[in-house]
Amino acid sequence: MREWKRWTVEEDKKLLKEYKLKGPTKLSKEMTNRTIYAIMQRYRILTQSNKPIERIHETQIDKCPFCGSSRINKVDTWYGNVVEAYYCVNCLKEFLPNRELIPPLYADGCEGR
Ligand SMILES: [Zn+2]
Repeated sequence: MREWKRWTVEEDKKLLKEYKLKGPTKLSKEMTNRTIYAIMQRYRILTQSNKPIERIHETQIDKCPFCGSSRINKVDTWYGNVVEAYYCVNCLKEFLPNRELIPPLYADGCEGR
């Protein structure tokens, strides 16, 4: 049975970056949940539209992209400037409308030098 899962931003980026280098056969081995045909078709869709990534902004976020929880709040947060973002109550992650994770301000590794 083939399952049609939504393409993630990461997958789209990978396709756009690596499709020409690797080709659909090699990519399908790296992206085990995608068939060669699905990859070819997706690449065609991505390269046909003008702004493949921006399209996702229009999608209403109703689930956390990291844990799948629907317990998310819309918040204003600081990410270079004030941006609209989402906060997951379940896994305590903040992310942008395009599902990109906003790293915590107090990220590990900054201190203790
Ligand atoms: Zn979450």
